[in-house]
Amino acid sequence: MTDANASAALYGRIVSLLIEVGKLTETQAKYALRVQSKIKSEKSLLEIIRELAYISDEEIRQVLQEKSPHLRIGDFLVEMGIIRSRDLTLALDLQAKEGHTRKLGEVLVAHNLIEERALIRVLSLQLGFPFIEPDQLKIDPALFSRGSVKAYEQHFFIPVRMEASKVLVAFADPLDKRDIDAAIRAMHLPVIPAIATKPSIKAAIEHLNPQHAAGHALSETSESVVQIVDTIIIEAIQATDVSDIHIEPLSDRLRVRFRLDGVMVLHRDYPLALAPSLTSRIKVLCKADIAERRRHQGGRILFDHEGHPTDIRVSFYATVKGEKIVLRLLNRKTELLDIDQIGMSRRVMHQFREDALDRPSGVIMITGPTGSGKTTTVYSCINHLNTMETSIITAEDPVEYIIDGIGQCSIDPKINLTYEDSLRHIVRQDPDIIVIGEIRDAFSAEVAVQAALTGHKVLTTFHTEDSIGGLLRLLNMDIDAFLISSTVVCVVAQRLLRRVCAHCAQPYTLTATDLLRIGIDLSQLEGATFRKGLGCDHCRYTGYRKRVAVFEVLVLNEAVRDGLIQRKTSHQIRRICTETTGLVTLFEDGLYKAARGITTIDEIMRCLPRFQKPRPLGDLERLMGK
Ligand SMILES: [Zn+2]
Repeated sequence: MTDANASAALYGRIVSLLIEVGKLTETQAKYALRVQSKIKSEKSLLEIIRELAYISDEEIRQVLQEKSPHLRIGDFLVEMGIIRSRDLTLALDLQAKEGHTRKLGEVLVAHNLIEERALIRVLSLQLGFPFIEPDQLKIDPALFSRGSVKAYEQHFFIPVRMEASKVLVAFADPLDKRDIDAAIRAMHLPVIPAIATKPSIKAAIEHLNPQHAAGHALSETSESVVQIVDTIIIEAIQATDVSDIHIEPLSDRLRVRFRLDGVMVLHRDYPLALAPSLTSRIKVLCKADIAERRRHQGGRILFDHEGHPTDIRVSFYATVKGEKIVLRLLNRKTELLDIDQIGMSRRVMHQFREDALDRPSGVIMITGPTGSGKTTTVYSCINHLNTMETSIITAEDPVEYIIDGIGQCSIDPKINLTYEDSLRHIVRQDPDIIVIGEIRDAFSAEVAVQAALTGHKVLTTFHTEDSIGGLLRLLNMDIDAFLISSTVVCVVAQRLLRRVCAHCAQPYTLTATDLLRIGIDLSQLEGATFRKGLGCDHCRYTGYRKRVAVFEVLVLNEAVRDGLIQRKTSHQIRRICTETTGLVTLFEDGLYKAARGITTIDEIMRCLPRFQKPRPLGDLERLMGK
């Protein structure tokens, strides 16, 4: 092995190149190597060197462009810290499995290991090729007509402009010699290669295609826009855990993202030029005003796919960059969960049923932010209570599941069926159980409390952080503390956390940082088996698949009621609740579920409020039952 090779094997190609050209000393590299082994991080050596400020990004860029070393794209990405080495191993495996039909870059993009634009940016950094977004309006048609559309489409390139006596050509892959040769043949001139995204090259070719100029432009474009919109919606429907589609104009592209298991993920980028026709198409579908672009609008689509209609609520929001569109897929969960399957631990569920749900009267509130699974819990409760002997009536905005045997009302202000009006009429329906979709103001809170005072059981939802916050907010709505304390029997706070993907789960050992973040000692986590997903085909390489609910169930007792009447501070009430009611906080339930490998520490840190240190796992097991 030569010296250069040995150095590359030890430090990586880029770092050893930096030493070779004198931008970095061997001592610095060795020091960084020691730091790397000490912090046990997945960071590459070069990332650590950059963090130690031994060299600037600009200097690295200069060296790479002057020396243009022959690096493999995968090694380059790992050294630059763009992807982790395990992602590279994974992508190389996938590429081999596919029989090497695709380039590594394409495999990385296809499996969400890197964003296409990020890949192109680093490629342009690595190779020194300019990164351009072909703007179809600025491309000279005469230059475009020098080559054939067939060649452009086959080799994914497009001429952009003349520079001196050469043609600047945007390639999807400027590394491919065949593509470069094809461009030289087509242009009959020397070319300066640049990089652009595949979709933007495709869009520019389509736009400039002489067939369009011949008069077919309108129909062809509108046809493809119809297809694009359909495809986006169908892909969202087929990925069963997508709740929303976001279509947003950025300064240089139209970005489409999905909310998958509660987290935004990039779906695809489109050229910005598509935005107006795509927006118009969605407006046609949901019967919104096509001419209106500067005001917010809403609409609804009943989208039929293979005989299954999906109800979609659409919102157009006028932003400074154009209209941002959000499509919410409604009625997605047709399954109604049995109360025992919603995810409460055994003892907590027992307490919830005995002391709250099965009591004859009182208000039960389910709280949490949008998308925390409140509706599912409410429907499971209704389903549990729905017997021949009880009369159940609801006012919902809108009805999301239809349950046979109960009187459900879907609010519709368009026909003057308002929330207030429904709540005024609801008690006259001789109900045993009243479901008030949401406490949104003092009026609906008043209705709930009054109904409970007259002997009804009331189920409702509320937007608050946690259970105690729900009580305190009611107090702030100018409802007498005595009325609240004598009617509210239980407040359930909940969240949905992502579940570790069963297909790629691996045991995970907590780091010192993890323990610090949780605020607990390792000795207090005895018996825990934490897990983390490595990422696989089943989970779109996120390591997570589907979700699990975590709960905080506060059943009010005398001590809490007294605290409310005496108007104690939230801090004092919180202490009374944990000390006297057996309350397990959201964070503790999350930790308990993470300790069983169902979710991760990252998820509980990301999603759950934390007001106090969690109790040791042993105590939690005692409170919740194994
Ligand atoms: Zn997986």
